[in-house]
Amino acid sequence: ITVLGLESSCDDTAAAVLRGREILSSVVADQTALHAAYGGVVPEIAARAHAEKLDLCIERALSDARTSLSDIDAIAVTAGPGLIGGVLSGVMMAKGLSAATGKPLIGVNHLAGHALTPRLTDGLEYPYLILLVSGGHCQFLRVDGPTTFYRLGSTIDDAPGEAFDKTARLLGLPQPGGPSVEHSALSGVETRFAFPRPLLDRPGCDLSFSGLKTALLRQRDQLVSDQGGLHPQDISDLCAGFQAAIRDVLVEKSNRALRASDGITGFAVAGGVAANTQLRAALETLSLDHDIPFVAPPLALCTDNAAMIAFAGAEKFAAEGADDLTLTARPRWPLDTRSPSALGSGK
Ligand code: ATP
Ligand code: FE
Repeated sequence: ITVLGLESSCDDTAAAVLRGREILSSVVADQTALHAAYGGVVPEIAARAHAEKLDLCIERALSDARTSLSDIDAIAVTAGPGLIGGVLSGVMMAKGLSAATGKPLIGVNHLAGHALTPRLTDGLEYPYLILLVSGGHCQFLRVDGPTTFYRLGSTIDDAPGEAFDKTARLLGLPQPGGPSVEHSALSGVETRFAFPRPLLDRPGCDLSFSGLKTALLRQRDQLVSDQGGLHPQDISDLCAGFQAAIRDVLVEKSNRALRASDGITGFAVAGGVAANTQLRAALETLSLDHDIPFVAPPLALCTDNAAMIAFAGAEKFAAEGADDLTLTARPRWPLDTRSPSALGSGK
């Protein structure tokens, strides 16, 4: 079937047209410039920008796909979790289109969109294991079906992308921090500075990253007081040590998650941090050690986009049918309602 997907839960406005597993178009309008002056995403500005840009994104997605609304079979929209103003803009737009055209409406969980992407790109069969690792999330999910997820563990504080961004800020490197820290680390020595490997001493797959930032701050301040400032080599060595700590923690926790997942068809990684070359390589090696196929979707599909929403919508539609016009926007919407940790978090 041909599905129009809409995404507006954070700071990207996106629309896409998907036919089967073929992406006919995928338009992403980011709001980075709008929020740059405020040092973070401003919810009110985001909501207004989504409302303004959705129309245009949809028009472009349809024209890029050389199709029109009348040829669309269903409309899928992110219904949460996320910034409520943005989610509402998308849900209202989708309801309007559905009411006007009579096409089925499908509410999609944003995280399900990320988690189903390896199936869209590589046709992975259920069940598979995925590590979602981004600026806002870090969790291991076993994906059993389009709306059935089991969470094996997640971060108890920061997400790794957030930690990369903070590290860059502390070292005077440009944002987003991931790529600039990775680049600086290329000429660094990862063993020069000691960084902790948080939570490795405890069983299970939960993770923690806030201690790394504290360690970095301490090392930096020590250098500044010893030598009056940071040399380029110091920055590279700090970046290399920090990146190695994130890599080691994610690899060891992935190792445990893989051991706890019988019968999976693959191990996938998604989210912006999955762009990290060293991390990707280490996770691939681990996966192959376990004799499990490794999937890392292309970056444009790892970060926020509407093709993943269209796909998750199509899968949900096939399994459970459509939603109706009572569909509501949810700021919090845990994917896994079985695991006790889901109670404490909407993400
Ligand atoms: P979410 O979608 O979970 O709400 P988000 O939109 O912030 O969060 P993404 O767009 O998936 O997340 O990813 C952005 C994050 O990925 C940023 O924190 C960025 O620093 C990080 N990142 C990007 N490239 C790299 C890289 N090469 N190495 C490490 N981190 C990276
Ligand atoms: Fe996302």
